[in-house]
Amino acid sequence: MADKNEPEEIRDVIIIGGGIIGCFTAWHLAQQGQRVLLLEQFNHIPHSWGSSAGESRCIRKAYIEEGYSELMKKAYEMWTDFENMTQNKFLWKTGMLLVDKGDGRNVKPVKDKLDELGYPNTTYSSEDLRKHFPTINFKDHIGLFDHDGGVLDVHNIFKSLLLLIDKLGGKIQTGVKVQNICPGTEVTLTTNRGKYRAKKVVLTTGPWTADITKSLELSLPLRVKAATVWFWKEKKFGSYSLDTGFPVFADYNIESWNDFIYAVPCYEYPNMLKLHMHHTIEHSIHPDYRDAQVGEAVAKITKKLTAYVREHFPYLEEEPSIVQRCMTTVSYDS
Ligand SMILES: Cc1cc2nc3c(=O)[nH]c(=O)nc-3n(C[C@H](O)[C@H](O)[C@H](O)COP(=O)(O)OP(=O)(O)OC[C@H]3O[C@@H](n4cnc5c(N)ncnc54)[C@H](O)[C@@H]3O)c2cc1C
Repeated sequence: MADKNEPEEIRDVIIIGGGIIGCFTAWHLAQQGQRVLLLEQFNHIPHSWGSSAGESRCIRKAYIEEGYSELMKKAYEMWTDFENMTQNKFLWKTGMLLVDKGDGRNVKPVKDKLDELGYPNTTYSSEDLRKHFPTINFKDHIGLFDHDGGVLDVHNIFKSLLLLIDKLGGKIQTGVKVQNICPGTEVTLTTNRGKYRAKKVVLTTGPWTADITKSLELSLPLRVKAATVWFWKEKKFGSYSLDTGFPVFADYNIESWNDFIYAVPCYEYPNMLKLHMHHTIEHSIHPDYRDAQVGEAVAKITKKLTAYVREHFPYLEEEPSIVQRCMTTVSYDS
């Protein structure tokens, strides 16, 4: 902690925000020989209030968005390097199954991109789907399987990063909220625990970015939205779990991205499937009040998702067991 009476050592770089992006940034900079200090407003890293909340994240090469599939080649190489360096396994390759109906117009461009980039994939007919994925109820669906899709073990990734930063002499301070940034040849940060100075500052503040950049007189066009994840318990143990190789699942048979549903076999709870509906709550929130004013909207989505689960996942219970909140930050044009 910076002592009010003694000037704090001037660090090469202060990283503000101890989410997954801040931790990776601190580690990369420390590897380059920079004396880094990571400041996090909450008392723990990781914690459950930021965008990095939760223990599982999916990774895939199959994207509909322009440019993402191209980036994934490098991303996978970097995950392999990270696993080799730490002698850990963080990425569980389950594959990712995308389904669509009719002529498959939504998965077609994804398949074209996978083929163009030489990424392994398989197309499934309705009959194939029923044979290969007996725990999902398909009707007239077709499928696209991205062989490299999988699940990342976020909790253990955080654990390894904190150790690596420490090993390289990087400092981490939690419970420090940066309130003001004053630029100059040295940057001065005002916090709830005194002042800090650094040659450079990196902001990795996720949903709080619009707040902190106000002190730089920047008005960034960002909106923060509440997101919800639902955990559904299996009726039959292992029907949708990582251990039995259930893939990440996404339903592309949609009219609007508001209806986009995906499921992730997760690390959090061994006998549950994690489900999420994309971009579900339209109105913006302030990140400090994440849980306010979204109850009614969440109830509506839960109802929709429950109907979906009952139709497609026969080995899950009728209702979700756990509902958790998260946040996403989007620009006004997304
Ligand atoms: C429901 C959901 C599902 C997702 N699924 C996937 C997925 O499957 N695959 C995938 O790749 N991505 C996924 N994402 C996206 C991914 O989780 C985020 O991109 C990532 O976690 C962003 O991390 P971050 O470090 O930028 O933000 P955060 O985790 O929010 O970190 C920001 C940190 O900054 C701290 N902070 C902010 N202001 C200050 C301040 N003034 N002083 C000190 N500290 C401060 C905060 O407390 C916080 O810890 C998902 C996101 C959500 C919400």
